Amino acid sequence: MYSQQALQRSIDRMLTEANTRIAVGKNEEASRSYHKAAQFAEQMIELLEDAEAQRSMSIRAAEYKQRARKLRSNGKMDTARIKPVTDHEADEVAYSDEEADALEQQILLLIDDSPGRIDWDTIGGLTVLKEELRFHYGLAMAKIPQGVEIEGWNNVMFYGPPGTGKTLLACAIANKLTATFFNVKASQIVSKWVGESGRLISTLYRVARKFTRDGRPSIIFIDEFDALCKSRSSDGHLYHQQMLATILSEIDGFAQKNRRDLVMTIGATNRPWDLDAAVLSRFERRILIDLPSIEARADIFRIHLENKGIPVDPNSISYPILAENTERLTGREIARLCKEVTSCMLAEMNPDIPKLVDAGLKQIQNYEVKLRPLKLADFSDALEQLVPDTSEHEATYYKKWGSDVKKER
Ligand code: ATP
Repeated sequence: MYSQQALQRSIDRMLTEANTRIAVGKNEEASRSYHKAAQFAEQMIELLEDAEAQRSMSIRAAEYKQRARKLRSNGKMDTARIKPVTDHEADEVAYSDEEADALEQQILLLIDDSPGRIDWDTIGGLTVLKEELRFHYGLAMAKIPQGVEIEGWNNVMFYGPPGTGKTLLACAIANKLTATFFNVKASQIVSKWVGESGRLISTLYRVARKFTRDGRPSIIFIDEFDALCKSRSSDGHLYHQQMLATILSEIDGFAQKNRRDLVMTIGATNRPWDLDAAVLSRFERRILIDLPSIEARADIFRIHLENKGIPVDPNSISYPILAENTERLTGREIARLCKEVTSCMLAEMNPDIPKLVDAGLKQIQNYEVKLRPLKLADFSDALEQLVPDTSEHEATYYKKWGSDVKKER
């Protein structure tokens, strides 16, 4: 007789295998995996003593059988439409073994506290979008009169050039909603959790749901989403497919229950053209976070200088002039530029720091850093050497992709 832990491991292995097989269109094989998962679940019921745990496990066994039947009867089942997770409470009982605890510990490490530092006014430009996000996420949280169904923005995909503020926006939303923010870099999870990423993602969503018990939402931010989709092609990586299949099935789980969910997924990508139709259809909104406009660039300069307490000479520094000279620069590049110029000023004003370091900790701790207001001339060298990371062609390509996708719908 197998132990509960061994049976649980076998069930999990079969489910991961099924998801992977569905993702690559091998539905017959996936059906067999579900069938085996159901058999293991039935053996498990006999070992469980708690009536509630037995009930949950029989629901799961029935569900796996149903999935197996459906996949067998419909060999051509759309690989994108994976049967959603339907009983999340049951999941909690079924996964509560030592292994699941270890996975949960890993998930807790993904919780990121940085949203606490990000507010709307620490993000330059994007005024209309910020208002829109405020409205829709507000709507998703507000009480809805009985009998009325309103579709919220539970799943959103930000796309655009690197460094344009996608992560910042996700952080600001999390901050304002006092949400628990799970920051997931798709490629890192896959490389760290070879073979387990599908299971890790199920655990992620389960933990995220747990965190909503006090009424606060959870936001799952998945950066580099494209890394998972590229792998849907035949030469792609199986682990990526597992992870993607699980994310899509989790997203579907709630969509099909037609109920409001406090777990929201925000995807982000620099390569939206690598997202396939199955992924796009799960994200109600795809939002272009474009290169900053001239007004936005002026705003971003202000944020990375004055708002950080760096003195500027108002008679010399003109944010509109800096903005005019930095066309096609992203927020990240502007932040880097400000840092470079500030560092030069600090080096000029504090030439004794290296000597003080040699003189001992006390000496350097007693020294107060000197600053002087920055002038436009301080930027000249850096501006002359500027080569924007995003080419003109790339910049227009994002817009074109957005309008092409709209037309196709
Ligand atoms: P990637 O696509 O590479 O993940 P991203 O679009 O998520 O990038 P962020 O991580 O949000 O970019 O931004 C990177 C950094 O660039 C920020 O920490 C911030 O310093 C600066 N930055 C980017 N956009 C803005 C903005 N609109 N306002 C102020 N700072 C910005």
